[in-house]
Amino acid sequence: MLTYHLKTQLLRLMNTATHFRFTKNDDNPTVKRLLRAVEPVVDDMPCLPVLGIFQENPQIFALPVVNARNEPVGIVERHAFVETFIKPYTHEIYGKKPIAEFMNQAPLIVSSHTSIDDISRIIIDAGMQHMVSGFIVTEHGQYAGIANGHDLLDEITQRKQANLFYLAHFDQLTKLPNRVLFMDRLSMAIAEASRVGSQIGLLFIDLDKFKHFNDSMGHAFGDQLLIAMAGILTRCSREMDTVARLSGDEFTIIADNITGQKDLDSLCWRILDTLKLPQQIMGREVFISASIGTVIFPRDDQDANNLLVKADAAMYEAKRSGRNTYRHYTAGMRLYSLDRMSLETDLRVAIERNEFELYYQPQVALDSGRVVGKEALIRWHHPQRGLLTPIHFIEIAEETGLIVAIGQWVIREACRQHQAWLKDGLQPMRISVNISAMQFYQSDFCDMVEDTIHATGINPSYLEFELTESMFMQDADAVVRTLRKLHGLGIKLAIDDFGTGYSNLSYLRKFPIDRLKVDQSFIKGIEHEPVNVEIVKTIAALARSMSLELVAEGVETDVELHWAESSGCTFVQGYRFSQPLPAEKFARWVAEYKHQVNQHTLGDM
Ligand code: C2E
Ligand code: MG
Ligand code: MG
Repeated sequence: MLTYHLKTQLLRLMNTATHFRFTKNDDNPTVKRLLRAVEPVVDDMPCLPVLGIFQENPQIFALPVVNARNEPVGIVERHAFVETFIKPYTHEIYGKKPIAEFMNQAPLIVSSHTSIDDISRIIIDAGMQHMVSGFIVTEHGQYAGIANGHDLLDEITQRKQANLFYLAHFDQLTKLPNRVLFMDRLSMAIAEASRVGSQIGLLFIDLDKFKHFNDSMGHAFGDQLLIAMAGILTRCSREMDTVARLSGDEFTIIADNITGQKDLDSLCWRILDTLKLPQQIMGREVFISASIGTVIFPRDDQDANNLLVKADAAMYEAKRSGRNTYRHYTAGMRLYSLDRMSLETDLRVAIERNEFELYYQPQVALDSGRVVGKEALIRWHHPQRGLLTPIHFIEIAEETGLIVAIGQWVIREACRQHQAWLKDGLQPMRISVNISAMQFYQSDFCDMVEDTIHATGINPSYLEFELTESMFMQDADAVVRTLRKLHGLGIKLAIDDFGTGYSNLSYLRKFPIDRLKVDQSFIKGIEHEPVNVEIVKTIAALARSMSLELVAEGVETDVELHWAESSGCTFVQGYRFSQPLPAEKFARWVAEYKHQVNQHTLGDM
């Protein structure tokens, strides 16, 4: 275990050293760092005493020569000088001559303010000789010391190494440890915990909807968001914990030496609570949220890689439960290998192979208790991985641009299905389709939609597009044009996941919007969260004042249904009524539900 401690200490040391080196003032240290205070000799000193100095001080590699005013005038290099005096009679011939005749009269002289980077360039340009003899440093023109090529080399290599270490182990953007250092720290922590019998908690944290921010606000904004997130995670964890950035918007925390699940609960809550406050990013106020998965060593696994995969699975579970929450890993959670590449390859051929299917989730009007709409939600029948929900592929589809083709398929398929149902005699009701930012920003988006409407024959007033708040933040003119065109076609427009994006809602007045969908994170457990009741009530008041319809998403229980209704929501959607269903099952569900409503009032159901 000595190695463990040593390695920890070393890493700690190196980390502090690198931080130290990378602070602003120390970015480019000066030659002062290399100075050796060698006593100079004066130019009229005879050679013999100089030889004596060299012989008595074997560590002196060169002697600076100064004039009476202490200004450097030359340098005597040990090797060449001592060599001369080994030959016979040289003592007698040269011993009494002044050193000025033997010195190198063109020494390299630099001011003490010269940076190490500059002096290395000067030395390289001046030739190898100066590497050996070194160079003289002055302060206000006066001799201040002498420095040596070897020390310079050492310094440069050390800095290079520190720099390389830094590049290899830290994320440049957030300055947090990267995946390499994270895995290393996790393995070390596991070794130590096995030795002393302690437990380690591991958090896998993924920002919700980071992609939307990045797309609509630009990468510089996305970067600032990640930096803010890094700061929040660091402040929420203990000093001894490791906060790392794995990639993109994925972060991890290693919480050493925890007493159990409770510690992780409070850490997760600290993070989620902190995220409830709006963040100031580039002059804008935004809300960010995250989904967190946790595992515990040794309970859930003993292997570093497996722990990460399981924490990732738990994080997906948190996303599936509506994001902005955390989940502990439990046996049986589905594990996904983090193999994005193959998923991306498969996604490219999924449309041709007809692997996508739309599921439909009913929306119920609270006043009548009737089904008045359905949201189309995409599913992917992956040939090896089975049925995948959007969490596992929408982001990749967005990053690769495949979302444009997939989104087009979704609109067409939703319209086709809607028409097929009408033909089969299903009651007419609205059909909502989710639209990605990238799709929305395509210059031919409106034309494509118009073509689809004509091709399928759908009455556009039944079609609704669900957009996200972040789409309204970019280039407002172009956005307004697209929205007006869509609205002009008769399509309804809704804002999905409302309340999670921007705190500045002035855009609502500018745009032709019909509905708001209150994000499920406000509905989940609303009875225990008085703040959420207030938020939903405020959103409801806002919606009423602007004549917008209000849908509560993610209603799972009767209690949530009650609170959603009493807080002012007029429509609801959620597992309380039905999970998203394949087309055929959906039609059967609607028929069955209608039957029940005719017999009971909604409250009894
Ligand atoms: P969303 O538009 O907010 O859809 C609601 C999500 O909440 C759906 O997840 C739905 O299955 C889930 N949900 C509904 N009721 C409940 C409930 O009572 N409890 C809980 N815990 N969850 C509930 P799903 O189908 O996994 O979709 C996730 C997200 O993927 C959607 O969020 C939407 O943003 C995106 N998405 C889905 N289909 C498409 C699509 O065709 N195109 C695009 N661009 N995005 C899509
Ligand atoms: Mg939606
Ligand atoms: Mg939603």
